Amino acid sequence: MKIETRAVHSGDRKKAGPQIPVTTPIHTAASYFYDTTEQLDKVFGFEMPGYAYQRYDNPTNSALEEVLTSLEGGHGSLATASGMAALEIALRIATQTRPHVILAADALYGATIKLLHQVLEPLGFAVRFADFCDLAAVERAIAETRPGCLLLETISNPLLRVAPVDTIAQLARAAGAALVVDNTFATPLLVRPLELGAHFSVHSLTKYLSGHGDVLGGSVTCDAEHYDPLRAMGRVAGPLLGPFEAYLAMRGIKTFPLRMQRQCANAVRVAQWLAAHPRVERVFFPAGPAHPDAEVIRRLLPAGQFGAMVSFEIRGASRLDVFSFMDRLKMIVRATSLGDVHSMLLYPWMSSHRDVPPEQKARVGIRENLVRLSVGIEAPEDILSDLDHAIR
Ligand SMILES: *Cc1c(COP(=O)(O)O)cnc(C)c1O
Repeated sequence: MKIETRAVHSGDRKKAGPQIPVTTPIHTAASYFYDTTEQLDKVFGFEMPGYAYQRYDNPTNSALEEVLTSLEGGHGSLATASGMAALEIALRIATQTRPHVILAADALYGATIKLLHQVLEPLGFAVRFADFCDLAAVERAIAETRPGCLLLETISNPLLRVAPVDTIAQLARAAGAALVVDNTFATPLLVRPLELGAHFSVHSLTKYLSGHGDVLGGSVTCDAEHYDPLRAMGRVAGPLLGPFEAYLAMRGIKTFPLRMQRQCANAVRVAQWLAAHPRVERVFFPAGPAHPDAEVIRRLLPAGQFGAMVSFEIRGASRLDVFSFMDRLKMIVRATSLGDVHSMLLYPWMSSHRDVPPEQKARVGIRENLVRLSVGIEAPEDILSDLDHAIR
C-alpha cells in the first residue's frame, strides 16, 4: 500500500472484545492485570503479548509506533516524549556495543549540538564534526576518528543541504559504525533512511508528522538488530510518549502525506518568489541545478518535492532590521518550531542557533540576516502577500 493509505490505516482498528474501535482510543491505565496471575507472569516474561505497565508500552503508543514503523519502512519504533529524547536514546543504542565516538554533520539542529556537547561529551563520548555533503571529508574523518556512530539530518537545518544518506550509510557500514539519521525535515514522504541503509531514523513528531503545533513528541525507528536493545532501554530509562500525546500525533499523521504534499508545492512557489525579490540576498532551498547538492537531490528526493522549509537572507539586514521585518508579519507566525499547518518564521541567530559558538555559525554559514520559513498549507498567495508587505 502507498504511504497515503498507510498513514490513514496502519496501527488502528485493533479488536477490543467483540467490537472494533474505528480509531485508537486514549488508553490511560498505568498498569494492567489479567484473569489469572499466570497470564500476567507470562506477559512480564515476554511469553505472551500484552500490556503490564505504561512505562513499557501502552496501546495508544503502540498504535502510533506501528504507523511510524510502516511509514519509515523499519523493523520497529519507540515513540518518545520529545525529538531530543529520541535522539539521545538512538545515539546511546547506536554506540552501546560500539566505540563511544560520534561523527556528526556540522550542520545540525541547535539542541542536537548541545546534546552532543553538554550531555554526551561529559559522559565520555568523543564528538567530532565533518561536512557531510563532502564525501571525501567524511571518508577522511571516519579514517581519523574511527567512530562508533555517524549522525546527520536528511535535510539540514537551517541551510537545507541534502547529504548523500545512501553513500554515507555504505561508508558507515564498511567502518562498522551505525548511522543515525534525523529525518524530521524530509519526513518519510520524501526520504526513508532505513531503506537507504541507515540503522536509525529519528523524528521530532512535534513537526510535520503531528503537524498542528499542539503536541511535543519524538520517535526512533530502527532495524531488527537494534530494536530489542532500544525497547529494553526504553523500558528502564522511561522516555515513552504519554497516551494523550500519542493520540494527537497519530491523529496528525493521518493527514501528514496530504499536508506535506501541499506544503512542498507551496514552498516551491515561495522559494521562486523570494529568489526574484530585490530585497532578498540569497535563498536556500534544495531545488534546481545550481544547488550544491543537486545530484543527491535528484537521486534521493521525489521529483518536484524538496521539503517545505525555505531559508533566506534579507539583503544588508542587521539583527534589528530582521526584528522589524518579523514584527511586520501579520499572518506568518513568528515562533520557534516548524512543520505545522500554519506558516512559521524563525530567526536562527536568535533561537535555534543562539548558543552555537560564533566560529561554528561562521563555518556552516549562518549569518545575521538569515531567516527560516516553514511553509504551511495556506493559500500560497496569502503567504506571498504577507512576506511582500513585511519585507518592503
Ligand atoms: C525540533 C527538532 C528536534 C527536536 O525535537 P523536539 O520535539 O523539539 O524535542 C530535533 N531535530 C530537528 C531537525 C528538529 O527540527
